Amino acid sequence: MVERFDIVLNTPAGELSSALDVPTGFVPVTAIVPAMRRLGEEAERLEERRASEAGRTISCRMGCAACCRMMVPVAPPEAFALKEYVDNLPADRRHHIARRLTETKHHLEEHGLLDQLYAVAEGTEAQSDEEFEPLNRAYYSLRMPCPFLEQEMCSIYEARPAACRELLVTSPAEWCQDLVHNPVQAIPVPVRMGSALGLLWADLTQSAPKLIPLPIAIDWAERHQAENQPRWQGTTLLDQALDKIWRLLSQAFQGSGEKADS
Ligand code: SF4
Repeated sequence: MVERFDIVLNTPAGELSSALDVPTGFVPVTAIVPAMRRLGEEAERLEERRASEAGRTISCRMGCAACCRMMVPVAPPEAFALKEYVDNLPADRRHHIARRLTETKHHLEEHGLLDQLYAVAEGTEAQSDEEFEPLNRAYYSLRMPCPFLEQEMCSIYEARPAACRELLVTSPAEWCQDLVHNPVQAIPVPVRMGSALGLLWADLTQSAPKLIPLPIAIDWAERHQAENQPRWQGTTLLDQALDKIWRLLSQAFQGSGEKADS
């Protein structure tokens, strides 16, 4: 059983209205992930429209995956959702992904980064973007393709994390070959849905907000499977998720002098 909710959010790029079907029964936290990603994509489309009205064209195209060499952070609900997605793939795909993940972890270990990634995933204190920056840079300096990248295409496209849906640039595509040294122009992200899901999880589990590096997200989900057993009423999850989205939108409005009403 689902109930339809009409959601209206005021974003920096305009009003977003969307209809979401939410389960009325008790569900795992992963049940809210698709709805939140969808809201994030719809908010992003408003920003794309604003960029287009300002004469800027999105350069991102299928087959261009220069940005799939960055460290992608995923929230715990996304890590559980990714594990479920991979668990339901045919055996040959599952084995292939397991092999790619193992290769990726070996590569990270050879460069002294694997333990740091596990420390981030298992940390009990929230870390700021500034604290993450040295690790982000070290990871990106490897130019290592994401373990889910195949022939420069995302092999888990429908299940890719929220963070992967949020980077769109209007600068020349070739500049993305070096995101550190080139003045890449990304369109603003109204709400980082990975962050919103991280805040939601922190509230549900009374823990510090955390984001997990994608190459070890499935490992993390396996180790923490017991935390994915509780069930919440779908409407409660939606209420709490919207509260986090509103909080992040309020931050996005700070400085512009406008207000985020929802
Ligand atoms: S999950 Fe897909 S879109 Fe995201 S970095 Fe990996 S290959 Fe790229």
